[in-house]
Amino acid sequence: GPPVGDEVLMEVGRRLSLQVREGDTVGRRGGNEFGFVMANVAHEHDAITLAQRMLEAISTPFEAHGTSFSLTASIGISVAPRDGDDADTLLKAADMALARAKEAGRNGFRFYSPAMDADASRRLSLEIALRDALARQELYVVYQPQASLDTGHLIGMEALLRWQHPQYGVVSPAEFIPIAEETGLILAIGQWVLETACVQTRRWLDIGISSLRVAVNLSTRQFRQSNLVQQVDNVLKRSGLPPQHLELEITESAFIDDVQGAVAQALALKALGVKLSLDDFGTGYSSLAYLSRFPFDKLKIDQGFVRDITENPVNAAIATAAIVMGRSLNLSVLAEGVETEAQARFLRSRRCDAMQGYLYSRPLLHADFE
Ligand code: C2E
Ligand code: MG
Ligand code: MG
Repeated sequence: GPPVGDEVLMEVGRRLSLQVREGDTVGRRGGNEFGFVMANVAHEHDAITLAQRMLEAISTPFEAHGTSFSLTASIGISVAPRDGDDADTLLKAADMALARAKEAGRNGFRFYSPAMDADASRRLSLEIALRDALARQELYVVYQPQASLDTGHLIGMEALLRWQHPQYGVVSPAEFIPIAEETGLILAIGQWVLETACVQTRRWLDIGISSLRVAVNLSTRQFRQSNLVQQVDNVLKRSGLPPQHLELEITESAFIDDVQGAVAQALALKALGVKLSLDDFGTGYSSLAYLSRFPFDKLKIDQGFVRDITENPVNAAIATAAIVMGRSLNLSVLAEGVETEAQARFLRSRRCDAMQGYLYSRPLLHADFE
């Protein structure tokens, strides 16, 4: 009846309001229908995350007039400017998406654009499958050799995560790492990569490959864990890998929000004796002043600058400047994504220290690496 209905509508309104961020608008369009305008969408998948949060918020049982009951919601999503650029068009598109969400069985969401719908459903099924990927042993680590530009000798390798999904085949980390980050799964997965890479490297040291250093990527969320130093220390002890054989790679996004905290974390890691490198250099917004405060050992120039280094004078200038800067800050400099002899020659002439890329080797399974 209406009194209970009104109470529930108010509660729905309240729960949706909790999802509002700066610039967003939420309102009731009539009946049991609400509208939500999301103002700042950096990535299209922001809308997926919001839709998931809303469904979750509605799924908590409602209490009204002494009874408790459960409701579900259906959500239709349109995106500007892809689906229209005025309110009427966007609302109509959202209505059509809503109708499809209801047809699909309710308690879900649909995008107006079929392409985005396909992306969203792939993303959701990856998210679900990723929860069990570790337990099902679908994850494995490959190792990409790194070479000195000077001597051509192997100096180390980067551990790169791979996921063999039963239906989708090998899924790129560029696609699933962000999902793992958002869901927090990265913490368990990252810990496993670290452990696997350290144990493997210890084995290689044992068979007499003595100068190897393994580089492991730490995502932002991993880097910010308060017990990270303890975790790394434990892994080193358990695996018996001497700390100087481990290098941790972080990107600029790990320190943009809290520079002071990040500097402290980096110093604590360095105190263990491990090396620290700055990955994807040149793609972030880091200020050079911040950079000098971090105890990095190495700069990795992003492959975006290396790719056309011999044809694009701007990228050639950026890469050269990065090398000069790295050297004057006493960092070693490694270029990523080196694919041709011409690129290697250019980098060598600019006194870049090391390279990693298909020219020297693709990432390899541990048996092939050996
Ligand atoms: P990254 O750390 O910058 O890794 C380098 C990427 O460049 C790797 O892609 C590698 O396979 C690719 N690459 C190497 N040489 C070449 C080349 O000559 N040409 C081209 N076109 N590409 C080359 P991958 O393995 O797909 O990894 C993508 C990103 O995923 C990594 O970028 C890293 O940010 C992330 N990632 C991978 N493994 C892990 C992990 O264990 N933990 C975390 N947190 N992130 C990881
Ligand atoms: Mg890396
Ligand atoms: Mg990189």
